Amino acid sequence: MSTPAYIGKFTANNPGIMTLQGTNQYIVGKETGLVIDVALSADSNMDGIIEQAEAMGVKKIEKILLTHIHSDHCGGALALRKRCGAKLGIHRSRKGYLGGEDFQYGDNDRISFGDGELDVLHTPGHESGHCCFYEGGDKILFSGDNILGYGTAVIHPPDGNMTDYMKTLERLLGIEMSLILPGHGPLIGKPEAKVREYINHRLERERQVIAALLSGRHTIGDITQLIYVDVSAALQRVAEFSVQAHLEKLIREGKVKQEGARYLLLSDN
Ligand SMILES: [Zn+2]
Repeated sequence: MSTPAYIGKFTANNPGIMTLQGTNQYIVGKETGLVIDVALSADSNMDGIIEQAEAMGVKKIEKILLTHIHSDHCGGALALRKRCGAKLGIHRSRKGYLGGEDFQYGDNDRISFGDGELDVLHTPGHESGHCCFYEGGDKILFSGDNILGYGTAVIHPPDGNMTDYMKTLERLLGIEMSLILPGHGPLIGKPEAKVREYINHRLERERQVIAALLSGRHTIGDITQLIYVDVSAALQRVAEFSVQAHLEKLIREGKVKQEGARYLLLSDN
């Protein structure tokens, strides 16, 4: 499935191992529109967004929404606000983070663009103030970094939280979706299958963490080494954050306890 004519994309020129081809910045609207995420303040990036909007017939960018406050999603927001005179919105838990926001939003708020509306879903896990935006008419989810075009989302404690992330994925399963437009990577044409794949992947990792603890690995480093066999050096830290996030979830559930740098499975597991 392709995107409808009122949705456009301009991918920022910030490719990398965490950002894949670069951050997807979406333009939503007809005559007036909004932009979801602005990665870079460089003129070339803003030109790209504005040219894409003009190609869609959007004459006025009224609003800028942010899925979350990581710099690859908000780094150009103030610059685009200044350039277009758009109103900048942010999740209410992040009020004041950029220092130039015009409004805040929270779970279940509705934000208008021209003659349409997006629903705000507060979806913590990757970042505690993370939001997805949902267009109910065409059942399209702008997923930010919760679901990516390929690979998996990074859960980086302490703000990243695996317990919240799993709840977020379960919640997304309950939403009828025809298309996911992710913060990085290509669009996802089979949303439900993708969300299930993400849930299964995390449950499998959790089982691996428990198995590693049972086999006598007790530190984040040792557990990571056992589970992530052929991870590149560049992704080693990310893998360790993921293991830490799983351990914190297991601690919250009373299945694991921490003693200094060591993690121990509680006996009734
Ligand atoms: Zn990102």
